[in-house]
Amino acid sequence: MEDHGRSPFDQDGTTGSGTEEADEVRRFWTRLGLPGLVDVHTHFMPERVLRKVWDYFDGLGPLTGGIEWPITYRAEEDQRAALLRDFGVRAFTAMLYPHKPGMARWLNDWAVDFARRTPGTLHTATLFPEPDVRAYVGEAVEAGARVFKAHVQVGAYDPADERLDGAWGLLAEARVPVVIHCGSGPAPGKHTGPEPIARVLARHPRLRLIVAHMGMPEYEDFLDLAERYEQVRLDTTMAFTDFTERLAPFPRRALPRLTHLADRVLLGSDFPNIPYPYLHQLRALERLDLGDDWLRMVCHDNGARLFGV
Ligand SMILES: [Zn+2]
Repeated sequence: MEDHGRSPFDQDGTTGSGTEEADEVRRFWTRLGLPGLVDVHTHFMPERVLRKVWDYFDGLGPLTGGIEWPITYRAEEDQRAALLRDFGVRAFTAMLYPHKPGMARWLNDWAVDFARRTPGTLHTATLFPEPDVRAYVGEAVEAGARVFKAHVQVGAYDPADERLDGAWGLLAEARVPVVIHCGSGPAPGKHTGPEPIARVLARHPRLRLIVAHMGMPEYEDFLDLAERYEQVRLDTTMAFTDFTERLAPFPRRALPRLTHLADRVLLGSDFPNIPYPYLHQLRALERLDLGDDWLRMVCHDNGARLFGV
């Protein structure tokens, strides 16, 4: 894979507000007349968990048939958050997720602290099917969580697992959105795909699910669900980029549906775990040619409205 050149971080590890990429990102939203961006899918997690995630991506080459996944933004936590602010991201999330029982509570405790010490962050929490899930989801909502993250592939659980029923009900009632990685990309899991999510929505039609990665590669099935349930949204994370178009191209025939669902598509990036510069996600949306109004809604207005930014 092509080397994208310099790290966005200076050699001494500080981010200059004058980095070239930050200037270009700011030009992107300034041209649209926006006050900045809202990014619903950025990752912040305890340092040792993040290192493990990076190790996973470092080892991906052999697993994805030689396609490498170099992490573009490998830096200290405060530098990463500062860079997002330099980009003009007015609100971003701390997507974190457990891969086993007994871990979500600990992640949620960490996330309370992270939200407190990090300006611009939307307090994020997570969950897992386990006996105390409804209790700690309730506690997180009480503590001010604005968004949840669920990862069906990494967690290897059925999202329609009855142990999650109370938690989904509580989140639907509280109108707290859940970003859910439920598509079968980049790797399928036992419970990925639209079918288990359809079962969750049949029971909780008001649940504010944000389908991560536009549901790739089952894009059209997840668009069906968004058309059927008005509280279902999709985030753009990694979709439409050169990297993803090689692995799981978005079907051109479905583009008009994105216009129809313009108020339910939200900018997501997967920062910092991306194998290309942040700007590329924005350019990938721009080149869909769905118009500036569409870009304004997706890159800022929809997220700002959903989270009251
Ligand atoms: Zn992600």
